[in-house]
Amino acid sequence: MIESTEISKQVIWRCPVCNCSFIGSGINAGNRCTACDFTVTQKSGIPVMGSFDETSGQTGMSRILSDFFSYPLLSHLRTFLEQPAQIDLKPYIARRQVLDVGCGPSYRQKHLSFEPSEAAEFVGIDSFIPFLANVRKENPETNLTFAQASLDKLPFPDRSFDTVLALFVLHHVPGNPFKLLGELARVTRSHLIIFDHVRSERGLARCVQDLYWRNVDGGCRYLTSRQWRDCFSRAGMSILLENRSGPFGQVTRMILKPMS
Ligand SMILES: [Zn+2]
Repeated sequence: MIESTEISKQVIWRCPVCNCSFIGSGINAGNRCTACDFTVTQKSGIPVMGSFDETSGQTGMSRILSDFFSYPLLSHLRTFLEQPAQIDLKPYIARRQVLDVGCGPSYRQKHLSFEPSEAAEFVGIDSFIPFLANVRKENPETNLTFAQASLDKLPFPDRSFDTVLALFVLHHVPGNPFKLLGELARVTRSHLIIFDHVRSERGLARCVQDLYWRNVDGGCRYLTSRQWRDCFSRAGMSILLENRSGPFGQVTRMILKPMS
């Protein structure tokens, strides 16, 4: 059962310096943490929450392919190769408070089953400012906020969002996967939705996968089904629904919920 939440046009940030919460408009910069004086700055009209290496997590090929212009092409190629088994995400987005981590440059090429503007409040974060500037331009609605932030230290208080989306992004994020999943679980109130890859545990399939991923995808980490489940249980999340597709079952679409 999905409960509705009241509409709010403000974002409650968690200060990346002192972890205190402060309220700010999602659209404008200049918001300030009252505890430590951290002030939100802007790059290309995008609020910057903390400082980090924008290109970390993208190895050579991935960096070339995540180029602004080849991104839509790559997105189509992937859709063709991986035969997506769509899960209808609309019920998890409409009238809810939603966070999308690694939102990328556009919602137009993603073949998604939802419109971000249907959310009560939708926050997209990414590490790459040109992506954020473009997605902001394409989605000017006031219930949408886009900010530069790091996935391993999300600038939001605990249980801030009804739905948290991580769509084909986690394998590109360096760092401890237990910590990353723990951070996503921390800000999730109801549902954590992960679309990602599953590394086979069998020798031949594993070799083919590694070759393909190294040359086409360029992510930094691909977990096996067992490793995914280990991460989820340590993060206190359980799988509500899983949908696998692809010749090796290598594409997974999962909906998770907090165990307690
Ligand atoms: Zn602070």
